[in-house]
Amino acid sequence: MTDIKCPSCGGKLEIDPNNSNMGICGQCNKPYAVQWIHSRSTGKDKLDLRFVPEKMDYQPVKKKGPKKSGWEPYGWKRGVALVILFFVLMGIMYGPKVYRRYQMDHGGIAIESQEQP
Ligand SMILES: [Zn+2]
Repeated sequence: MTDIKCPSCGGKLEIDPNNSNMGICGQCNKPYAVQWIHSRSTGKDKLDLRFVPEKMDYQPVKKKGPKKSGWEPYGWKRGVALVILFFVLMGIMYGPKVYRRYQMDHGGIAIESQEQP
């Protein structure tokens, strides 16, 4: 088997004895997914190296602490959401009326005055 070179530093890539699809650079310790792709046109195996971001060992810092999110039963965000919901519902229920009233007040529509004799 030929030596595989690390694409980033040129060091020798050590194949993981437990997983032949994994290689780790002996110099920079970067993990790579090693794959041999057999090419039918040339009859040779082509090496496919892919850098593996260390997502397996790396734990993103996303701790769920006791910090208040505002979505508690009496949290402020919930209160704001309820108020917004209230106005949306009012808008749906009274929107057309208010709109018509607004147009009347501002002379937007002259239908009413035209109907009068
Ligand atoms: Zn390397």
